[in-house]
Amino acid sequence: MSKINLLGFTLERLKSEFLRNGFTILDAKRVFPWIHTKLARSFDVMSDVPLRVRENLKEKFSLDRPECLVLQKSVDGTQKALLKLEDGNYVETVLIPEETRATVCVSSQIGCAIGCKFCHTGTQRFVRNLSSSEIISQIFFWKDVFGKPITNVVFMGMGEPLLNFENLSDVLKLLLDEKAHNFSRTKITISTSGIVGDALIELAKFRVKLAISLHASNDEKRSCIMPINKKYDIKTLFKAAREYLRNSGTDRVTFEYLLLKGVNDEDSDATELSKLLRSIPCKVNLIVYNDWPGSPFVGSGRNRADEFSRILLSKGVRAIIRKSRGDDILAACGQLKTQASAVRADKEAGIKK
Ligand code: SF4
Repeated sequence: MSKINLLGFTLERLKSEFLRNGFTILDAKRVFPWIHTKLARSFDVMSDVPLRVRENLKEKFSLDRPECLVLQKSVDGTQKALLKLEDGNYVETVLIPEETRATVCVSSQIGCAIGCKFCHTGTQRFVRNLSSSEIISQIFFWKDVFGKPITNVVFMGMGEPLLNFENLSDVLKLLLDEKAHNFSRTKITISTSGIVGDALIELAKFRVKLAISLHASNDEKRSCIMPINKKYDIKTLFKAAREYLRNSGTDRVTFEYLLLKGVNDEDSDATELSKLLRSIPCKVNLIVYNDWPGSPFVGSGRNRADEFSRILLSKGVRAIIRKSRGDDILAACGQLKTQASAVRADKEAGIKK
């Protein structure tokens, strides 16, 4: 019988799991800080937990991190890891070290069902949600490998986090818990393709930052590149985003806008976008598109991005051109995809598929 991985268990969940398995609440209270603040990799080191209890814990539970099959480093310092999960599936996660901070980009699903046309992950079929342990294990992995503090976490990797809300919610509890990972809510960003409903309402209770992939200034264009817009159009999305701001007390939403040559990067798109954004406190991250093998789109180029941003700024919209990180190792926004790299890695390791 496979062991239960405890990395993603909140203290409340740990207590009930322990009680169900014949351990005590005191055992859970002792084990919890070892997992999250001392980053223990085995029960053996938990010196305040009685030896007999530690032995029994080993029988039923694990603190295993996922196996890293490939670790790539970009020329700009960005690192991407291909992790193998216990059931043989793969997931990618990215570390972006900068002078004053280090950001981990976390995946929440294997594959993605949303199918944004510009996204590499979107071309990989949806397999399943990641468990809370599998999500947070990506942060444990980088804490182990990087050896310096991780300051920011963004849920912008593979998958749509709001479609895996129960597990996302446990991870957020652990990240924000001052007795666990103790992140400030201002250092955590959840990125959504624009899912509206209960998950977004519940997310507001965590008061974390919200980023929305907008990528177009009207429904016609957005529906062409993001099919989710046919379900939740821009008007519905903006209404929900305004509610999020009110309920979470956060001061603005970040809109992500990929600049796709000839699709959404004309002067008229910038003007229309500026009108749309008047109704909501926000900032815009303009992203020069990173293409990938077989991508149907081409990036707009730096000059077009500069001009687009100038138009937005002239109309009073706060816009920045986000520096693209790790595009040489396909670690940049929208480039994560495990299938090809996993097959390659397995072949190199001599594993038959
Ligand atoms: S951009 Fe995000 S939501 Fe859209 S297909 Fe890619 S992973 Fe899924």
